[in-house]
Parts: sequence; C-alpha cells; structure tokens
Amino acid sequence: MKLTAFIVLIGMLQSALAFGAVDQELLIVDEPPRIRMRIKSVEFPVKVQAEGLTLATPSKRVLRPVAYNGVRELVLMKQMSSLVAKDLKGSSHRLADSEVMLESESGEIQINNQKLPSPILLKRTQDRLEAIVLISLEKYVMGVLEGEMPTSWPIEALKAQAVAARSYVLAQMQSRLMSGYDVESTTVDQVYRHPELHPNLEKLKTAVESTKGMVLSKSGKVLKAYYHSACGGHTERSSDVWGGSDSVDLQSVADPFCKGNPSDHWELKVSKLEFQSLYPELNGTSPSDLALRVVTRTGSGRVALLAVTSRSTANMITGNDLRSKLGYGKLRSTFFTVQNSGEFIVFRGHGFGHGSGLCQWGARKQALSGKDFRKILKYYYPQAVLVNSDVRNL
Ligand SMILES: [Zn+2]
Repeated sequence: MKLTAFIVLIGMLQSALAFGAVDQELLIVDEPPRIRMRIKSVEFPVKVQAEGLTLATPSKRVLRPVAYNGVRELVLMKQMSSLVAKDLKGSSHRLADSEVMLESESGEIQINNQKLPSPILLKRTQDRLEAIVLISLEKYVMGVLEGEMPTSWPIEALKAQAVAARSYVLAQMQSRLMSGYDVESTTVDQVYRHPELHPNLEKLKTAVESTKGMVLSKSGKVLKAYYHSACGGHTERSSDVWGGSDSVDLQSVADPFCKGNPSDHWELKVSKLEFQSLYPELNGTSPSDLALRVVTRTGSGRVALLAVTSRSTANMITGNDLRSKLGYGKLRSTFFTVQNSGEFIVFRGHGFGHGSGLCQWGARKQALSGKDFRKILKYYYPQAVLVNSDVRNL
C-alpha cells in the first residue's frame, strides 16, 4: 500500500478542497486500499461457514469443503502448532501451516457466530486464533459507522462520523506499518459491525458514499481524528490524553451542544476496599484511612493527577490510569470531582469517553439544528482541513 504517495497527495490537495467524485470504474481496476482489521480472539473450535467457501494455505493447499443447502462449512481445531480442518462429512484435513486464507463467493464469511467480509486471514497464535479481515476502506467505514453511531441519528452527524472514522484508520495505518494489522475491531480503535440488512442501511450507505474518500488533514498529514460519546461541555486536547507532538494535536473546544446527553451528569460510588485492590502499592493500608484528592486538572477541567493518601503514605495516580483500572464504562470520563465519604469514594462527573475530537452527542445536536457535516467537523477539529483523498493512489 503506497501510503507515502497518499500523504503527498493530501498535501497537494489541501488548499484545493476538491470534493469531486472518485471514478468507481478506476477504483475497481486499480487495487483498492485494504484495511487489515484484527479480530483479536476467536475461540476454538472455530466454525467457518460461507457460500462458495475456499480455504488456502501458504503452502498452496486449497480446500473446497462440501456444501449443505449451498453453504460450505469447516470446523477448525488446534493440533500442536498447526490447524486441523474438519468438513461436514467428518473428514479431517491436517494443515501444515498455522495460518490460512478464507475466501467466499458471496463476499461474506461467518466465523462462529460473527458475520464478516471476505477475505479473511486466520492466524494461530498460541492457544487462540486471530482473524485479519482484509477490507476496502469504504466498506470498513460503513461497518464502523454501524458500530459507532446509531443509524437513526441525523445524516449530517453520520457523515461527520464517517469522515472522522476514515481519517482515524488511515492515520492509524501509518503508526502500525510494522504490525500485522492496522486496526482492532473494538473500542481499542474503532468498533466495527458488519452491516446487516436493516431499515437504515440505505442511510448508512448515503453517509459513506456522499463523503467518499474525504479525510481530515493537518500539517500535510491525515489527522488521527479521535472522537467520543459525549464531552460533557468541553472537549479535551488529545496530547492531554495520549501525549504527542503539537503537529498532530487536537485542540480543546467548548461544547454546549451535548448538554442533556444521557451521561451529562453521572455518579459513581466505589468502596475504598475495591479502590485499594486496584493499586498493589496500597496493600497494607487500612481502607478507611485512604483518601483520594484531585491535584491537577487539564486545560479543559479534566482530572490529570490525583493523590491517594493514607496515614503514612502518599501516592500519585493519573486520571486516565484510574479510568483504565476502574473500567472505561464504569468511570465514564476523567471530567469528575471526588468526595471521600466514609468507606466510599464518590465520583461525580460529566460526559462519556476520553473527550478528544468530535463529540458524538454534540454532533447530533448540531446536525439537528441544521448544520452540515463540514461545519460540524470544523467545530470539533478547528485546525484541520477537509480534503478529498484520491483512493486510487493509495
Ligand atoms: Zn460535547
């Protein structure tokens, strides 16, 4: 994949803001960009089903399992360091390799109970199997849209989300050039859900196709366009969450638009005993002696540093670390206050997510009030420009 060429092209187009349609015929003739999306853990035995399924190994062995009602099926099991494939007739085929390529004629493959696009590379890693789905950029963006934002939301919010998701994955491809994959299919990167037939599928397609190839760019690079559920009133500088240089930093903006979102005000009560169990360095301290206090906040008001004190010790922890230890769904953001209350610590906060980049609930409200996706993107990524990447050059 010629990502360098793509980056150069972004630089050239930055001022042009050319949003011309990409020629579909040429896109098919040229090799389309493929995202390597990792499904981290697939449980053994692995049942693989698809119409016109074929399995090929690096040593050129090809299996075309027997079909039942038009669907071909294989069950993969582990044996020493390699794999064994069992077909519907009960015949076992020992595969000399620890990885196999699956392809289907229908374009879809079901692995255990998950439908995914074809082709898929399955890799044995110790006691588990990981699947690397090879998927075109635009199809990937459609699945991320399905996974990351309700399709019932306004079309302009969905378009803004599509551009952010496309930008994020292209930026992430650069940082994972040396890895065997580009993105995880979970919240580690972006949640991907294979789009099924449902009433909003056309709307989803519209959001992706009408923004086809569009990405956010800053300083001549594709922007890692982070986004989150609700900022709670103020988005966060990305360097305050993950560090990084100024050239790729997402700045903080005030956001009155997500007011009233489901995570606008939340409260979490954690027992001091549970809190102590998260930090081994607090062993030996009586939980009732523990007290938590905010020491510093970031520019947006989120908790940067906290002090955990007891009678004899004081430990510093970061807000982000505390969130990862308590669970991202439990401590919804680092935008909180702390109250020590007897045997408990009470967190009261705003918003859901890391808070950087596009605020999804804010984008929804802005779209409902008539703003188009360009204005929404400009609001949350003020220093970025929207450019039309020519995917034929990827
Ligand atoms: Zn917001």
